[in-house]
Amino acid sequence: MTINEIEAQSFHWLVDMLESVEVGLVVLDLDFRVQAWNGFMENHSGITASKIRNRVLFDLFPDIPKAWLTRKVDAVALLNTRAFTSWEQRPYLFRFRNTRPITGTEEYMFQNLTISPLYGSTGQVEKVCLMVYDVTDIATGKRALERANEQLAKLSKTDRLTGLLNRGTWENLVDAEFERFRRYGHATSLVMFDIDFFKKVNDNHGHLAGDEVIKHTAATAKHILRQSDSIGRYGGEEFGIILPETDAEGAHTICERIRETIEQSVVDTPSAPIHYTVSIGIAGLSDTPKNHMEWMQQADEALYAAKKGGRNRVVVFGQ
Ligand code: GH3
Ligand code: MG
Ligand code: MG
Repeated sequence: MTINEIEAQSFHWLVDMLESVEVGLVVLDLDFRVQAWNGFMENHSGITASKIRNRVLFDLFPDIPKAWLTRKVDAVALLNTRAFTSWEQRPYLFRFRNTRPITGTEEYMFQNLTISPLYGSTGQVEKVCLMVYDVTDIATGKRALERANEQLAKLSKTDRLTGLLNRGTWENLVDAEFERFRRYGHATSLVMFDIDFFKKVNDNHGHLAGDEVIKHTAATAKHILRQSDSIGRYGGEEFGIILPETDAEGAHTICERIRETIEQSVVDTPSAPIHYTVSIGIAGLSDTPKNHMEWMQQADEALYAAKKGGRNRVVVFGQ
């Protein structure tokens, strides 16, 4: 074999490799006319190399962000360097269907993209090569993990039985609301309430029926409150509510509605239908409490007064 023949043969192998490699290879001239289009691109786009050759890429793929790709390619040609974008910046350049049977949760193939300069005989950048990597597996895994983390973050903020905010999360909100009041002085009220004679519910009907009553309390209050109000499960059968933009009088009206609705409702449990009541304490925010702890204490004192006063009632601190 002559040297030329050996060179021709290794060139042949190289082309074969590029044809069959599991990476998309596209050569573009600086007018975005397609000069090369390998097997990966043919398989996923359904467009053959002979059909696309010398065609402007954007004419066949109108979904490709033209301004963005032009800017990238211009920078590669001008600066004579490679450019890289990951699926996290832009999920894909070519909208190819995700064909993986196992990772079929995502509709489209996620892609990483590298753009490299290609030189002509004069040493000038004349063309660019796009390398398209299928990273669907990685992206799917990472997105699933992110979703799981979001779920966990949500779970760690809420109470399992009622779905309300848990004590820690709710207390942080009280603190934040107190600071907001200090800065802007808007009316705001804090509510603490507790189920009356709850020990008897447990004793007479069992702990599971008790849980049903707790869930009923949470759902009833949640239903009456606005989206902007924050309700948390403070303890076993104790709850707290922040009512932003609401003075003590407004809070009293809302709390009366909660108290009355609960008084008039029946919780169906396997043991028996249960009637129950709640006692409610309110502390409207004036300039008396020094911090959010004192504010909560005031609401708690009002709750204590409601219990002492005979239960099934609403008391406002200082009134
Ligand atoms: P009061 O009217 O003074 O509030 O009387 P009470 O019987 O409700 O007294 P208290 O508020 O101290 O009762 C708390 C009871 O709640 C004691 C505890 O066994 C029960 N408890 C706390 N957490 C749970 C829970 O998650 N599920 C159930 N079923 N019971 C709980
Ligand atoms: Mg109680
Ligand atoms: Mg209690």
